[in-house]
Amino acid sequence: MTTSPQAPVDDADRTDRPKRVLLAKPRGYCAGVDRAVVTVEKALETYGPPVYVRKEIVHNKHVVETLQDRGVIFVEETDEVPEGALVVFSAHGVSPAVHEEASNRNLRTIDATCPLVTKVHKEVNRFAREDYDILLIGHEGHEEVEGTSGEAPDRVQLVDKAEDVDKVDVRDPSKVVWLSQTTLSVDETMERVDQLQERFPDLQAPPSDDICYATSNRQVAVKAMAAECDLVLVVGSQNSSNSKRLVEVALQAGATDAHLIDYADQVDDSWLDGVATVGVTSGASVPDVLVLQVLDYLSERGWGDVEEVTTANEKIAFALPRELRKDLDENPESPSSVR
Ligand code: SF4
Repeated sequence: MTTSPQAPVDDADRTDRPKRVLLAKPRGYCAGVDRAVVTVEKALETYGPPVYVRKEIVHNKHVVETLQDRGVIFVEETDEVPEGALVVFSAHGVSPAVHEEASNRNLRTIDATCPLVTKVHKEVNRFAREDYDILLIGHEGHEEVEGTSGEAPDRVQLVDKAEDVDKVDVRDPSKVVWLSQTTLSVDETMERVDQLQERFPDLQAPPSDDICYATSNRQVAVKAMAAECDLVLVVGSQNSSNSKRLVEVALQAGATDAHLIDYADQVDDSWLDGVATVGVTSGASVPDVLVLQVLDYLSERGWGDVEEVTTANEKIAFALPRELRKDLDENPESPSSVR
């Protein structure tokens, strides 16, 4: 069922209100994560285990552990992969240096980089070719940022926190562009852009939004219900950027409390004290089975009334990587099972 958000209620009214759950839609798997997970599953079926994957294919504990059980070996770097073996690159993307290392070791590669991350890589290349200084708004140390910066390390400067804005040093203030990581908070990114614009009035914007549709749609959905929620549970892993942003956005949009959990058993019962309305959502790397387990947990404790708050219907899907498609002979469309 779909609801439209209602006005927030006073604390005094909360205990008298019926227990209910507001369930965000869209939530969970995005097209890029679905493609990456299906890529690894198809690689296992087509070539047999072991399949090596550089870094976590997507930032979700359950997905990673399930794939490990099926014969996937996750490595940090390509030098851990035996010469000539098959390695899949994760949805977050890799720099040209990583492709080169893989080629030097004669590795067979399948690149599961999300096409929306690839789009940002292409923007970096284009602006670097045109001799711009590129200010990449993103989180230091995140794999996506490492891959994107690696397209033009001499031209890209990372802007993470507000204090980084003052540290930026450009050659020509009239040739500066900002780009961003795909999984940031939309509002926080615009704050950073405003700060940068104060320093560089000619700052150019990306040709199209870098924060992807899935990240912004999930933030819009959680914002729509947050003010009504005494508690928001975001299902997602600690290393998932877009999941962590959902907790922050929920709190900024008026939720009284919000927590990030991998599994239902991580809910602390004390969080539910005095709570009437619980909001539930999940990050873009989270299979919906984990959300259903949270709903079961809540139902067992009296929160069985679930209303879906729909702010968008997503229909985006991406084709599997070309390197894999050519070897898929049967059941090319069979669905992913890590869902
Ligand atoms: S969150 Fe966005 S950029 Fe990341 S994999 Fe999903 S669709 Fe692609």
